[in-house]
Amino acid sequence: MTFRFTLPCNRAEAEALPDAGDLFDDLAQPPTLLVDEPDPDRPDDWLLHAYFEAEPDATLLERVRALAPSGGTGTVEQLADEDWTTLSQRGLEPVRAGRFLVHNRDHRASRRPGDRAIEIEAGLAFGTGQHATTLGCLAALDRVARRWDFHRVADLGTGTAVLALAASRRWPVATVIASDIDPVAIDVARANLAGNRRRPGRRGGAIELVVAAGMGHRRLREAARYDLILANILAAPLVAISRDVARGLAAGGVVVLAGLLQSQARRVRAAYRRHGLLPVAPIPRREWPVLVLRRPGRGKARAPIVGGR
Ligand code: SAH
Repeated sequence: MTFRFTLPCNRAEAEALPDAGDLFDDLAQPPTLLVDEPDPDRPDDWLLHAYFEAEPDATLLERVRALAPSGGTGTVEQLADEDWTTLSQRGLEPVRAGRFLVHNRDHRASRRPGDRAIEIEAGLAFGTGQHATTLGCLAALDRVARRWDFHRVADLGTGTAVLALAASRRWPVATVIASDIDPVAIDVARANLAGNRRRPGRRGGAIELVVAAGMGHRRLREAARYDLILANILAAPLVAISRDVARGLAAGGVVVLAGLLQSQARRVRAAYRRHGLLPVAPIPRREWPVLVLRRPGRGKARAPIVGGR
């Protein structure tokens, strides 16, 4: 059985959480801690979720409360034994980042005129828009879209294909290639392509799907160089693939990197800097910061004709 303890917290507490990583080392089954910013319009109202394999006792709850003193008592729920990805998808409220809206089948009615809507069923893949990294990537995509247009996009670690679909919504004639190390994710991605009226394939407007670790697929190398590479993976693989990613990026091209914690951001940024990519903005002060870097030079990635279509 899984138990979830939810505690409101403020942004400073959420951002300080990685430092609390060793706090539960004495337990045979330490809780999994997640933070979540449910409403980007209220940037100081976060939630801390602690997941336990067995019912947490009062002492344990007190230790979690100590991580978020502003949070009050919080609530404990018992979750049915299901895989968390599916669980996290059920009944999900739609999320917005810039003009992107990510929703599931049950929430089609939430679309508004002008939305770039993406319909996602998560199945066994990651990427519903609920996680701060996905949301951060969508927000970054929305921001870079105001400055540049892209024609050749790669989405590494595509999961549900949410970012590939977002790029394809924004640049409908771009060629997009999306990869994942997990073949199950690629099956989910394919189903989501169909749900968003996107064909799999190599032509502009289609999305090509490949199973690959990092850039390790012939098609990923053949389709280079990209003017936009998205990679929401994790810090260690992001560092490991930094050279290949940098090589695959055209002059003027942009990378959007996520999956790293605040404490790992400098290391990941330094790895990409070593390969000639320069940060477009400072590291955001968030639990899960998204890094945006660019290869200097004039490439095909050009300024949009009229700002932010
Ligand atoms: N892009 C989605 C999913 C991110 S989850 C989103 O932004 O929400 C990270 C995904 O990366 C998972 O589906 C995982 O299977 C995949 N992954 C992990 N390591 C990888 C690697 N080295 N190369 C490619 N994919 C990887």
